[in-house]
Amino acid sequence: MPFVGDVTRSKYFEYHDQVNGSLCPGLLSLLDRHAEIVGGVIGVSSNPDAPPPFRYYRFQDLESYQRSFPGSGGESIGSSIYSPYYLQEHELVHAYVYRAWGGALADGLLREGIAVALACDELGVSPRGSRDWRDLLHTDEDMVAYALAGHFVTYLLRQYGVQRFAQLYRAVSDPTDAADFEAEFARFYPVSMDEAWRNATNVDAFRLMNGCLGDWNCWTTGPPLGLGEEVTQDCSDGIHRTMTVGDGQHGVVLLKGGGGSLAVWKTCWDDAGPYLLLQEGTDPSAVHWIVMDPGTYVLTLEGPMDMQLRGYLPSPLVGDACETAGEVQLDGQLATQINFPPMVGLSGWIRLTSDIGRYYDFETPNIGFYDDPSLPESARSALTLCDSCDPAATCVAIDPASNLTLFVAPGSFLHIQNIDVVTNSIFLGGAGLWFQPVQGGADQ
Ligand SMILES: [Zn+2]
Repeated sequence: MPFVGDVTRSKYFEYHDQVNGSLCPGLLSLLDRHAEIVGGVIGVSSNPDAPPPFRYYRFQDLESYQRSFPGSGGESIGSSIYSPYYLQEHELVHAYVYRAWGGALADGLLREGIAVALACDELGVSPRGSRDWRDLLHTDEDMVAYALAGHFVTYLLRQYGVQRFAQLYRAVSDPTDAADFEAEFARFYPVSMDEAWRNATNVDAFRLMNGCLGDWNCWTTGPPLGLGEEVTQDCSDGIHRTMTVGDGQHGVVLLKGGGGSLAVWKTCWDDAGPYLLLQEGTDPSAVHWIVMDPGTYVLTLEGPMDMQLRGYLPSPLVGDACETAGEVQLDGQLATQINFPPMVGLSGWIRLTSDIGRYYDFETPNIGFYDDPSLPESARSALTLCDSCDPAATCVAIDPASNLTLFVAPGSFLHIQNIDVVTNSIFLGGAGLWFQPVQGGADQ
């Protein structure tokens, strides 16, 4: 079926767009940056005059795309990309590899491995347990195989560089058998294929997220997010911004949206995993206030959410004393979550503001309370809600053992004493304090 769409030309791309209306603003410059940075890793010529452009065919939607490519979610043929998305990193990598390393297709393990490693595909699988590389040479439509291939290629690139991998890639044809592959591998690498595979796929819980050399979100960050600045996703559904939180500040990310995940990284794609990961698979929408220590963070997004992000606050979110309490505005419609990174013995004060007093369902997922009455007062673990900073203020202890409904008057103070924030899986999100407004629970 012939592709009918508007054609735009950029430095490296000829973009064919079937979506009615104007092209997402900034998309073509993002694509050109992607070609320069990610294509540059592979060795695509940065001289835009020499080769013909990459052709990108953006279909109206997944349905119309699949009428041409049944059962697929994106395709590249030579240096042309066919996609239902504005900017599909995985398919772009295939096209760069084709352009840089020649027309021959290596086997599935190498071909998909390099695409996963450089696109940082989030495959939503945990490739725990070993699988033999011999069974994955023709990787196709199997997410665990893709993830393992991504880990394998990431390992080779990190340990031995791109040049050597390119040599192997050119030397291996598709289809290949295991003995041939092993022999070719031995020509270029000082370790055996079995040993490299063992090392590369010996992944811990966090690295199970991805085989990823480096998310281009990390390589293409724009200017740092300003104080209170609001941003939404760009044309590639990313953010491409960093946040630098200074001494004496606590970063806060305000996030309204759902259906996706936000990862906050201190070092992009650190093996230890992100500083914080919010996953909102089931939660339609919430406002998150995220406690962030001083440092520079990169934010990466996954999923088709509609997200709004606001930069950090100029002062700590959790104050040392009631008088210096940070402020959290409770949302009257959406759930408000105060997210903490893993920490031990958190204490401090937060002022809760809202337009009116209101009842909230209150939960404290992944917060550890170790209240032992035999301990001295200073060592006990507690949450208290006070109506002012006055020494004579009315304060109520919140029993964190049970989920409860809490009336919060505007300008109440939450006193946190000695709590532990525990996370024990790749799902770091959810640790913190949840306030879900109760329907009809407002005090008019
Ligand atoms: Zn692929």
